[in-house]
Amino acid sequence: MVSSYRVVTVWGMTTDVVAGVAEGPVAGEQPALPSLSPSRAADFKTCPLLYRFRTIDRLPERPTTDQVRGTLVHAVLERLFDLPAPERTEGAAGGLIEPQWARLTAAAPELATLFADLPEGAFEQFLSSARALLAGYFSVEDPRRLEPAQRESLVETVVDDRLRIRGYIDRLDVSPAGDLRVVDYKTGGAPREAFEARALFQLKFYALVLWRTRGVVPRVLRLLYLKDAEICDYAPDAEELVRFERTLVALWRAIDEATAARDFRPKPSRLCGWCSHQALCPAYGGTPPPYPEPAVEPAATLPLIEE
Ligand code: SF4
Repeated sequence: MVSSYRVVTVWGMTTDVVAGVAEGPVAGEQPALPSLSPSRAADFKTCPLLYRFRTIDRLPERPTTDQVRGTLVHAVLERLFDLPAPERTEGAAGGLIEPQWARLTAAAPELATLFADLPEGAFEQFLSSARALLAGYFSVEDPRRLEPAQRESLVETVVDDRLRIRGYIDRLDVSPAGDLRVVDYKTGGAPREAFEARALFQLKFYALVLWRTRGVVPRVLRLLYLKDAEICDYAPDAEELVRFERTLVALWRAIDEATAARDFRPKPSRLCGWCSHQALCPAYGGTPPPYPEPAVEPAATLPLIEE
């Protein structure tokens, strides 16, 4: 089941999200298969205990303003391409901020409460920082010259006949010659070097899905860093994606084994600084809650903000 809106991940990455992309069997017309999103796969790679907290315990995570700003800017950039090409100006994008904020808070009223405890003027500052990210976007791309093939689209495929992989792509461009370019907007305030490997993992994940579903290896995987106004392009090849597919299947096996053994160990790293669950983590003197048996329902409080 997929929620009606996307939010940003705790890691400050723009990814698939979330409230609702279930990990585990997916019911449908086809036989139920376990399913894995790039965010959850990257969680396990980063720290198995973090994966457990998010995917099995489903502990709520209060979004930060950075994450919510990312959600808002993604929404604005998605809607921007609804406008006729000549009208996709920075001013028009700025004009979409408030309507998109209204839409997001209508879908998740708790987002607006984030500003309740902050000093006066925090919300205005939030809006103006969203404008600054959009300015970063316009300094590296001209949307009047682009006609994306897809925006915020869910892509999925089955690998190894037993694992469904799925996630949301921010934008997919297709050239007249049929070349694919996967574009991911990065809006986080965290140092990007801390997350670059995770971001690339996510893009290879999408590249693999597109290759398997369209038979074409994307020509370019593009990370668009709005805060730094920088573009980072990466060109994958088929051999690399074959290796990546093997990695994903092995990762899923490791998740499966950890689940069977109820054994999800903490793996401290510099990314712990962005983890919401330090108080429950043995690496920081905490104790995880009892393992949920059977799996608990998704948290009903704040939406689990992913990317
Ligand atoms: S604090 Fe670090 S080691 Fe502990 S769960 Fe979070 S990411 Fe893992």
